[in-house]
Amino acid sequence: MPGRASGRCCRGVVALGNVLRAGTAAGTVLLLRLDPLLYEAALDQLERRWPVGTPGGAGAVYLDDGMILTSVGLDNVNGGVTLCGETGAICQAYTLNRRITASIFLYRESGGEPYVMAPCGTCQERLALWGPDVEVAVPDSDSPAGWSARTLADVHPYYWAKVFAGGEWPPASLHIEP
Ligand SMILES: [Zn+2]
Repeated sequence: MPGRASGRCCRGVVALGNVLRAGTAAGTVLLLRLDPLLYEAALDQLERRWPVGTPGGAGAVYLDDGMILTSVGLDNVNGGVTLCGETGAICQAYTLNRRITASIFLYRESGGEPYVMAPCGTCQERLALWGPDVEVAVPDSDSPAGWSARTLADVHPYYWAKVFAGGEWPPASLHIEP
């Protein structure tokens, strides 16, 4: 799990807290990595929206400009119209025309402690718009925090839409203009 100031660097990349700047031929690219700060943002959102002791969930995402967006799910008596907790942040990122670099979702049972849930298959599909390197939080019993970061490519190794891009992860343009 990358830390806020992990110093996890490689050639051409300089760590700035949780922000990595990678020099590429196309210019400098910010790489916001999944870290405890994003966990705290999701937890803060969960606790603002759902009273202590009640069940609830919340998501948080990093955008490529460093902004954090948070959201909660939409509940409804008609289960078919409910939305996952990350969906609001995903739609807002798209509204802002920013790229999501990392995503986390927390859930808390009634009277329990919050825990990380991996993104559902539908949210993996939504996040796929921003490529295979988007990091998502997954439960991890080997991690002291109980969770760790994986890329979409890690959790989605047989991404179905590769068939439309010659076996590679389809570019954003293919999602937007299929
Ligand atoms: Zn979902």
